Amino acid sequence: MTSVATLGSHCALQVLKGAHDEGFKTILVCEKKREKLYRRFSFIDEFILVDSFKEILEQKCVAKLEEQNAIIIPHGTLIAQMNSNEVEAIKTPIFGNKWILRWESDRNMKEKLMSESQLNIPKSISSPKEINGLIIAKRHGAAGGKGYFLATNEKDYKRKRDKLIQQGTIKGDSDLYIQEYAFGVSAYLQYFYSALKDELEFFGVDRRYESDIDGLGRIPAPQQIDIDTIPSFNVIGNIPLVLRESLLEEVYSMGEKFVEASKRLVKPGMTGPFCLEGVYDDSGKFTTFEFSARIVAGTNLYVDGSPYSAFIYDESMSMGRRIAREIKNAKKNNQLSKILT
Ligand code: AMP
Repeated sequence: MTSVATLGSHCALQVLKGAHDEGFKTILVCEKKREKLYRRFSFIDEFILVDSFKEILEQKCVAKLEEQNAIIIPHGTLIAQMNSNEVEAIKTPIFGNKWILRWESDRNMKEKLMSESQLNIPKSISSPKEINGLIIAKRHGAAGGKGYFLATNEKDYKRKRDKLIQQGTIKGDSDLYIQEYAFGVSAYLQYFYSALKDELEFFGVDRRYESDIDGLGRIPAPQQIDIDTIPSFNVIGNIPLVLRESLLEEVYSMGEKFVEASKRLVKPGMTGPFCLEGVYDDSGKFTTFEFSARIVAGTNLYVDGSPYSAFIYDESMSMGRRIAREIKNAKKNNQLSKILT
């Protein structure tokens, strides 16, 4: 019997609840410190307790997962806590295309895939000397917005960079990627691409609530000016959003272009859930500053389905459940090799 496994963090509850609802045995690879939390949920059938998630690379853990015929569902914590070489070395089958996760983690590869997708993206800035207007400096990898900062010129950039070095958050310029700041209303577009059906499903939209940048709006401007901390973009939670219906056509076409480009650059291409992240300007034009090539935590909003999944499914369909449904369909038709790497 096939089981579905994931790491205990990020969207583990949604993923395992969805797998349980689709009839799979569920396994949580859980750090000992979080065991008490996850024991509260009866849909988790088995726990593999670890001190660090990196233990999924070790033979002991591999053997346990193999015994259960497990498929790992990758999420943000996997990428945040392991480098690309480690992710690619995981022996247990991974849902989706594990090779594309490197394209998510490496900012330059990421930019290449977004350009190949013909998405409208903010300009990247190769040297602090070239800063001429508002930029955002971002750390590599899935840092979740921690240690990001805004600057308007080289001097401003260097002052903030040096502060982060002092704090031990970064080592130097090579840890940062500089991008033009894109103005507008943020929206995180959640998709599922079924490699089995060759079909793109739009699943939902969220906005991120980020500390402390989103808290700053509550402080009047004179007090903001007096504050000497560097506001970060650390995600605290997610807020639901529905889009004007007239924006949907473009949403699908951006998702399709991304899937097509990924097929060209990183075979077998984008499979399963992904997210295009950016802002809408005043004319409804979307600028994509980021993508996630796996399930995003913003889908946790829609455990009972979303305003968009309701148009595709006559049942509550979360992203976690959609993943499990894909595995079920692939198994039934002997096509697991199409959706696993
Ligand atoms: P990321 O890690 O790229 O998802 O960025 C974390 C947060 O930083 C986002 O949720 C946005 O609030 C902000 N952000 C990142 N890149 C940009 C950009 N180019 N323009 C405006 N905001 C950005």
